Amino acid sequence: MRINTRKKRDAVIGTALRLFTEKGYENVSVEEIIAATGTSKGTFYHYFRGKEEILAEFGNRQRTIIDQWLKRTPKQVESLEGHLNGLFLDLTSNIQNAHRLHRSLIGLSLLNDALYEKQQADIQYLYDSVLRWLPEPGRAELLVSVYFGTIVRWCFSGEDDLAERMKANLAHVWNGLRHPQSEAVFRVSTPKEERSMRVAVIGGGLAGLTAASYLSELENIEGVLFERSPHLGGRAFTYEKAGFTLNYGAHAIYGIDRHEISTLEKELALSFSSKQVDKRRVMYAKNGQIATAPLDFVNIMKTGLLNTMEKVRFVAEAAAIIAHIHTMKNYPTLGDYLAESNASEDVKELWEHLVCSNFFIAPEDARKVSGAVISEYYHNLFLSTRPVNYVLGSWAVITNQLKQKIETSNRWNILLQEGVDSIRYADKKFVLRTKNREETFDKVIFAMPVQQVCKLLKNTAWEPFLAEYEGNTPTEVMVYDIGLSRVVARPFNYISDMDNKMFITDVSATDHTLVPEGGQLLQAIAYLNDEFEDEEERKAYLDQKMEQMERLFDRHYPGWREALAVKRVSKKAMVSSVKNIATNKLLPNRLENVPFYFCGDGCVGKGELAERAFSSARRVAQMIAAEAKAMSAKPAAPAHAGEPRG
Ligand SMILES: Cc1cc2nc3c(=O)[nH]c(=O)nc-3n(C[C@H](O)[C@H](O)[C@H](O)COP(=O)(O)OP(=O)(O)OC[C@H]3O[C@@H](n4cnc5c(N)ncnc54)[C@H](O)[C@@H]3O)c2cc1C
Repeated sequence: MRINTRKKRDAVIGTALRLFTEKGYENVSVEEIIAATGTSKGTFYHYFRGKEEILAEFGNRQRTIIDQWLKRTPKQVESLEGHLNGLFLDLTSNIQNAHRLHRSLIGLSLLNDALYEKQQADIQYLYDSVLRWLPEPGRAELLVSVYFGTIVRWCFSGEDDLAERMKANLAHVWNGLRHPQSEAVFRVSTPKEERSMRVAVIGGGLAGLTAASYLSELENIEGVLFERSPHLGGRAFTYEKAGFTLNYGAHAIYGIDRHEISTLEKELALSFSSKQVDKRRVMYAKNGQIATAPLDFVNIMKTGLLNTMEKVRFVAEAAAIIAHIHTMKNYPTLGDYLAESNASEDVKELWEHLVCSNFFIAPEDARKVSGAVISEYYHNLFLSTRPVNYVLGSWAVITNQLKQKIETSNRWNILLQEGVDSIRYADKKFVLRTKNREETFDKVIFAMPVQQVCKLLKNTAWEPFLAEYEGNTPTEVMVYDIGLSRVVARPFNYISDMDNKMFITDVSATDHTLVPEGGQLLQAIAYLNDEFEDEEERKAYLDQKMEQMERLFDRHYPGWREALAVKRVSKKAMVSSVKNIATNKLLPNRLENVPFYFCGDGCVGKGELAERAFSSARRVAQMIAAEAKAMSAKPAAPAHAGEPRG
């Protein structure tokens, strides 16, 4: 349609919809529309078959709002709940002043086949759009039904405030979706006159934000979260570049139904959705052959990595892990178990490779992971019905909500670019110093990598107690992200190259919110060897890894170089601050003779990686909550456990 023609047609639609709104659809004739728009009957019927067709145009206006909403990037999304409510309220505000028009639209849609089909298509469009952010059909259906139900009810009940009604109904739905019965674990009711406890959290990564979020719910605790960088999130920091959303650390969640994030979701009333990586499209490549990864029974049976007897053997091993009767848990390391196992080399290699990919470590390190840790980890993962998921919209959807929760409590401050430089004990308080201030606290939580904890406590009375954690080694990988202007190929969603010890994830195949329309986001990760003679050898090794990664892109994603829009290479990214191998030791949440609390992915907690950051943070918040409760019951100031002597 030419621009002028479109303009004319749009003008007629605009005027007609206005007249329908003011007078009611049935009270406006075609002649009146023609007179009001200054067109002729011929022109009118050239554009439209009748009045109904103009009425149907209302749905197209709503679609424009939906399309705008779909363009919002994860960075603009504070929470899933807010994001979806925003859509329903934007649509509502367009309807609010068109009560009569909407009555006609609903009534006529039931009588007129063409209008009926258009309405049906519009509802489907809304539902499909909601699914893009909330890929759970039951929940999406409920929200869309409440949205339409509220409009129909409003059509029948006079011209009261639709937006208010919509807000109230959506709030009820979200309350239900958040499982209210499991909240309040941390809510301690406290009389008004109680003394408050002052808590400092050092570090604004996933762990620090989680701990502060939990504590911000308690009325008798106030606090400060110190973060040395200009932004929150730590290694889960997310940033946008040319329409692509890049995570510093990836946002895959293993076994989400049994993962700590699901506990946080309920207890902190977080709202986010996740999408499962298609298990049938998760591949392992070995000796140039590509086969399905053994994530579940179907994949094990399909995979070409094992022969029939080996498949039976592996299924039996998985079943024993699930039943908690696998002897692996009694071995100091996976290597010790494999050395005694009579399984074939392929089965052994598979174990090694599974541990590599889930723990993000090199094969030689996989053999050093403790048998008990592996046994517990795979007990959970094999039992999970949702083994690998992505948080839709990146970690930002979670960190934004934690931040909002802390800030809205009005009892906590978040200070950015305020790295804590020193800590000392004076007058029964801990004094924290940054370059700009000095503040005192009753309790201090360290929510940062163990290496940085040791550094901060150097030359203090507590240093000797941390000595055995100082030598812990981290897990480091090379990360190569590429954002492509188009989908160049999609042979699978994940491929782990067992020969070269690296893997590529087609992140956008699962999380489409991270790319501009039609784009593709690939992330290659290589496990790194960390023993080098000198700096030159290390540099040569890293350069060679990068070339290998590019060759892997060439092989599976030909044409990526021409479509390249964004590129990010991180030659040494710290995945886990303490590699969970038998020769390392995770830092406990409390340490004898040290009065602080420790959380983060290098501390004792459930799971690996981010799960350990979340779980250890929740644990320390629970400990402090219990102490705050005990303190409020006592009249006098409590002595600090583990305060330095002498
Ligand atoms: C490439 C990569 C891929 C990953 N993939 C996954 C994955 O798929 N799934 C998963 O679960 N996990 C993954 N992870 C791991 C996950 O990102 C981390 O486990 C998690 O983010 C750790 O959070 P944290 O709060 O313990 O530590 P950090 O994120 O390190 O937070 C510590 C914070 O403390 C601040 N800080 C340090 N010292 C001070 C000081 N003196 N004063 C004030 N502030 C200070 C730092 O600036 C930082 O913001 C990945 C990580 C990487 C790097």
